[in-house]
Amino acid sequence: MSTSLEMKNIQKFYGPLHVVKDFDLHIQPGEFVTFLGPSGSGKTTALKMIAGFETPTAGDIFLGKRSIVDLPAYERGIGMVFQNYALFPHMTVVENVAFPLTVRKAPRPDIEQKVKRALQLVKMEQYGGRYPNQLSGGQQQRIALARAIVFNPSILLMDEPLGALDRNLREHMKIEIMRIQKELNMTVVFVTHDQDEALTMSDRIAVINEGRLVQVDDSKTLYGKPNNRFVASFIGESNMIPCCIDRVENGSGEVTVAGVASGVAKLSGQADGENGWLFVRPEHVEIGPRSGAGDVPNALDGIVENALFLGEMTRYLVRCGNETITVKRQNRGQPHFAGGTPVTVSWKAEDCTVLN
Ligand code: ADP
Ligand code: MG
Repeated sequence: MSTSLEMKNIQKFYGPLHVVKDFDLHIQPGEFVTFLGPSGSGKTTALKMIAGFETPTAGDIFLGKRSIVDLPAYERGIGMVFQNYALFPHMTVVENVAFPLTVRKAPRPDIEQKVKRALQLVKMEQYGGRYPNQLSGGQQQRIALARAIVFNPSILLMDEPLGALDRNLREHMKIEIMRIQKELNMTVVFVTHDQDEALTMSDRIAVINEGRLVQVDDSKTLYGKPNNRFVASFIGESNMIPCCIDRVENGSGEVTVAGVASGVAKLSGQADGENGWLFVRPEHVEIGPRSGAGDVPNALDGIVENALFLGEMTRYLVRCGNETITVKRQNRGQPHFAGGTPVTVSWKAEDCTVLN
């Protein structure tokens, strides 16, 4: 039932505005892929081209082996959920969920059985007789989801479906969506600008910046091995320290960090003499009493500017010359460094990468 989706060199122009650029993406049957990017990066436009509400300026889209770009939206067999649930206000829950089947002129017993099953899946079977205005936001979103999956779509598209819900409901709906996706083994393309949603829900995340796919990988890889500065700063917290590459050997480099300290770092394709950004996650930075970083690689002397107690962790901001380094340490068994304390921060060569 679930289908693969392939976007081949998709371009979208609105007049002179190039909003989707060179999209090449192959999504496996049953895979949950998230488009993650800031507002205006082209996520909705990309989704609308898959759904058939927008036409690509160039390129092709395949569902399974079949090109769908010339098919009207209603013939693509794609389910869609939007941020603002868009239920029909004058129809009951049952009528709303039945709608995609009614327009397809399905036989009545078939409709009844499928609506029942869809409402069971979203745990809303007792609400069939209600009207949308008699439901909470979270309940309406469940009905919108039931309506999107009632006709066994080959693929489900969701555009910021949790955006209008409060925090607790959002957490709950995340888990529900993941459960339903697994139960039906559905191919899902999910759009969000929220990194936490993307990291927890997705098999793979397609990070989009200014209309371009900048990295497509699973959560762990994106977090641990971002391949450029945009991804590193968009996903999780990061330190990005200007550096200059002095010597290259086997994919590693000797670098001058922040214009003063020397260090060793993994490179991502840079050559001798180039400038880049040394990327290291706050939880990979050690903090200790000032020891004189001068001769030690991958270390900077600084002063604690701010120490924020977070329960299990402390988050330090350490001023090192012109740079502020963020450090996150577990509190258990670790000394505490108050604001104003001279310290040395350091990191391991294997925990840092030079990015462009
Ligand atoms: P996102 O969903 O990532 O926030 P969109 O896909 O909605 O981004 O928009 C991408 C860019 O395309 C934005 O600059 C937006 O203003 C522009 N855009 C979207 N729809 C249209 C349209 N119908 N006509 C002209 N420009 C549009
Ligand atoms: Mg959008």
